[in-house]
Amino acid sequence: MSPAPYSVCLIPGDGIGPEVVDCGRRVLAALADGRGGPSFTFTRQAAGFDAYRQGGDSLPAAMLRAAEAADAVLVGAMDVARLPVDATQPLRALRRHFKVHASVRPARTFPGVPAPFGQIDAVVVREVTEGMYSGIEYRAGDHAACGVRMITRQASTRAARITFQQAAVRRRKVTAVHKIGALKLTDSIFLEAVERVAEEFPEVQLETRNVDACALELVRSPADFDVILATNAFGDILSDVAAGLAGGLGLAPSGCVGERRAYFEPVHGTAPDIAGQGVANPLATVLSAALMLRHLGERTAAEAIDASVADVLAAGGPRTRDLGGSAGSAEITDAVINALSGAG
Ligand code: ATP
Repeated sequence: MSPAPYSVCLIPGDGIGPEVVDCGRRVLAALADGRGGPSFTFTRQAAGFDAYRQGGDSLPAAMLRAAEAADAVLVGAMDVARLPVDATQPLRALRRHFKVHASVRPARTFPGVPAPFGQIDAVVVREVTEGMYSGIEYRAGDHAACGVRMITRQASTRAARITFQQAAVRRRKVTAVHKIGALKLTDSIFLEAVERVAEEFPEVQLETRNVDACALELVRSPADFDVILATNAFGDILSDVAAGLAGGLGLAPSGCVGERRAYFEPVHGTAPDIAGQGVANPLATVLSAALMLRHLGERTAAEAIDASVADVLAAGGPRTRDLGGSAGSAEITDAVINALSGAG
């Protein structure tokens, strides 16, 4: 008897989200299709700006229930910029609801994709529940406003543990990023928590760097980095730098992980400039689906997807515009599915 299919909750969201999530769904479905891989059932749930515009709620309760009931969750992108200030910020609320602590963002160069700054094979771990994006902002009179950069020992410890667990099975080096000269109290808490966790992983080397120096060094010597740990906003920025070094946002996957729950999504946003045209690069989402499979324990299937993406990129086959080609999202997805037969 074949194993029960995994239930996957798809949250396509806004902009290019629905286009790229559908490509991810097609690749997952193809794993079982005559290839002997795991099988899936899919449900689609609305969240984000369109959900807010249509139903008045950017993170509907029905969506949360469906995501909780599913074995795995794949998210597209949500347009938080257009939501009014009093609306639920769906990404922040989803992260809190799922109690995920950090976004794990691998960045690696692929043969066939130009890497003018050199090879990179790194992971940026971004704390996602607090820091500069805590959501605590208030007006201070008519001409000023304040934002609170909250850093807690608990959230820093959780993100650090995820980071060291990643590093322990990689090249065993963690770079913790801070700006302690300017952010003395908050980044002291962060670094103390990181150093405490480092004691649990004596085999992993810990270095600390100022965020500005880290950005410079990432561009100058990307190969020197293994796993980078950063607070929320610094990690948001550095993961885009790492993605840029590895070929762009179209190739950058991520997984938001906690102790019990996780969800997976491309690093990129809604890309409103190309939405609806069928030209978005779906590979960041396809690679996010592979991370999701690894999380489910489906390592062979995850490796098959990774290898197929690498094959398509190396073969000099079709490419989307962001990688200098003219192919559409569907064509790239077809190429990955064709390559799966060889990888399986
Ligand atoms: P948001 O506010 O939702 O983050 P944004 O446009 O500010 O949207 P991104 O969506 O990350 O930020 O897009 C940044 C740039 O990268 C845009 O020019 C966009 O077209 C491009 N881009 C992002 N994702 C992709 C993709 N999958 N394929 C091709 N180009 C992409």
